[in-house]
Amino acid sequence: MTAKQDKKLFLFDIDSTLLRAEGATRKAMLRAFYDIFRAKQSIDTISFHGRTDPELFQEAAVMIQGRRLDDAEYAAMTERYIVLLPEELAKSTFRLMPGVTQLLQHLADEKNTILGLETGNLEASAYLKLKRGDIDHYFSFGGFGSDSEDRTELVRIAIERGRRLNSDNISNKKIFLIGDSPNDVIAGRNAGINTLAVGTGLATKEQLLAESPSYYLNDLSDVDEFMKCVGL
Ligand SMILES: [Mg+2]
Repeated sequence: MTAKQDKKLFLFDIDSTLLRAEGATRKAMLRAFYDIFRAKQSIDTISFHGRTDPELFQEAAVMIQGRRLDDAEYAAMTERYIVLLPEELAKSTFRLMPGVTQLLQHLADEKNTILGLETGNLEASAYLKLKRGDIDHYFSFGGFGSDSEDRTELVRIAIERGRRLNSDNISNKKIFLIGDSPNDVIAGRNAGINTLAVGTGLATKEQLLAESPSYYLNDLSDVDEFMKCVGL
């Protein structure tokens, strides 16, 4: 009856879904380890794809130091990382994924849409990356790696924040998670919401379809196709 009942919430992953900043995360993380621990060991064998930053920091710590970071070390590492990331983002080959700005603008222009984030990035690093692509102004909330190491948990947090900010009990059927990694699809499914897998990351179409996303698109360049999937 009211417009509120028709609201739809969209939660976007960042890396390889909205944008790609080749190597910036890895380089900033490695430099932070060097600055704090004087550790120079390579972390090239760690897969960054679809992972949360806290997971990556801890996996790198185990590889470099032989143990996880304690709370004080973790705080020091992330603080240093946030200082170094803008430099690495400036140096990186940065690009938005096809159709992203057009799609975000289109969704923002719709009356009953709410845009949020679900990302393994720390909240501060998420906004640094979005700002680099001039798309930060589309987002005001999300679930972040700084909220939880666990992706399903941070998706739940994003949903709660979206509901609270809009004073609206949006049903799970009207919430869509958009991501490029099987981990996104799994987290969205565990949280009980729709999942739209997009083939702009490292995962193959087959790997994504194996997790049974609600929808699959090769990329986000066809706004009409996206709108059809989400019922707009
Ligand atoms: Mg991603």
